[in-house]
Amino acid sequence: MSYVDEIYSMVVEKNPAQPEFHQAVKEVLESLRVVIEANEEAYRRDALIERLVTPERQIIFRVPWVDDKGQVQVNNGYRVQYNSAIGPYKGGLRLHPSVNLGIIKFLGFEQIFKNSLTGLPIGGGKGGSDFDPKGKSDREVMAFCQSFITELYKYIGADTDVPAGDIGTGAREIGYMYGQYKRIKDVYEGVLTGKGLSYGGSLARKEATGYGLLYITNEMLKCNGKSLAGMTVAVSGSGNVAIYATEKAQQLGAKVVTVSDSTGWIYDKDGIDVALLKEVKEVKRARLTEYAAARPSAEYHEGKGVWTVKVDVALPCATQNELLLDDAKALVANGVTAVCEGANMPTSMEATEYLQKNGVLFVPGKAANAGGVATSALEMSQNSERLSWTFEEVDSKLQTIMVNIFHNLDNAAKKYGMDGNYVAGANIAGFLKVAEAMTAQGIV
Ligand code: GLU
Repeated sequence: MSYVDEIYSMVVEKNPAQPEFHQAVKEVLESLRVVIEANEEAYRRDALIERLVTPERQIIFRVPWVDDKGQVQVNNGYRVQYNSAIGPYKGGLRLHPSVNLGIIKFLGFEQIFKNSLTGLPIGGGKGGSDFDPKGKSDREVMAFCQSFITELYKYIGADTDVPAGDIGTGAREIGYMYGQYKRIKDVYEGVLTGKGLSYGGSLARKEATGYGLLYITNEMLKCNGKSLAGMTVAVSGSGNVAIYATEKAQQLGAKVVTVSDSTGWIYDKDGIDVALLKEVKEVKRARLTEYAAARPSAEYHEGKGVWTVKVDVALPCATQNELLLDDAKALVANGVTAVCEGANMPTSMEATEYLQKNGVLFVPGKAANAGGVATSALEMSQNSERLSWTFEEVDSKLQTIMVNIFHNLDNAAKKYGMDGNYVAGANIAGFLKVAEAMTAQGIV
């Protein structure tokens, strides 16, 4: 058995019932095969790949809190501190009923390579809980966040591990968590990113993942002789990534015709009205049915269906495994040009392979959605120097970072004989920096 296959079997055996984690490891290892085989002796001796796939530390804890009826509720809390070779652990906190250890490990593993690709000094980590903020009162969300941090504060810190937002964790949750951390530790430090602007947050952090997705998509299309202006785009999701991806796509001259949530999706032939979408999702925290009710050009459909619309560019911005083989077939049949992932691992491996085989330009999430965490690293820099930069300053750094990421992965793909395979390029470029740092730091 090859070294790569040995490692994959070991991962499956040692981490049973964690399919998303297995999927993430398989995707990365398959693209690294050529690099790993070229360095097999040294990597085997140092157990480099075994160490890479094994988190440095995994914390699982109980999160008790009291609901509005006086009933005690109990959730699971997680933080996986995956790899700190190139910087403090960095990555979001997901609050969603689907969260379990396998989900957090897949996200943490992906985060190592994503963070490396940004070119900034941040290691990989991820955390969260099976708590569902949907339908909870502000007081219940605060009670949960305070209890969550009352345990997690022991393991995090501005130079150790810096969590941030993800699905279910937005400005409100970060605010409650930051307040509780400061109260317990009595220090005012940049321990979380995605903070409010009045207490150390960065301008453009809210927009960064969605904007970054469009900056890299635009650059990738340009390098392939195409232009985003005038293209039709399908976006899935309607959270932070989807909203700001839609906004930037329209600013760049494209027309976004879809968004979705957990119960249905919108087709808006006139293009999504971003101001209305923000009002429905950010202010009212309501369903997309409210968007449809207020917008005559919009059709609301129950269930899934975003990928059946004829578009030039598809931007999956909802969650893992939301674009499957049949969706890929529908997109190809409709002549899609590019698929760029705003979410983490939204495209299954079979769907990714099908798209690539059919000549679709495909940029994986660990590159395409890296603008969020990159801007978090810029927030950390601002906190360290106790200054804050203008929106334009942060946004222009973000643009440079996304353009650099594209060229970095494009060059890596070319160098290893896989021209145009941006999945391989991203994994290889992300891996090489981490592997070099791990090797330099000895067996730790
Ligand atoms: N949750 C985001 C991600 O998946 C952002 C993490 C961060 O800002 O630390 O990369």
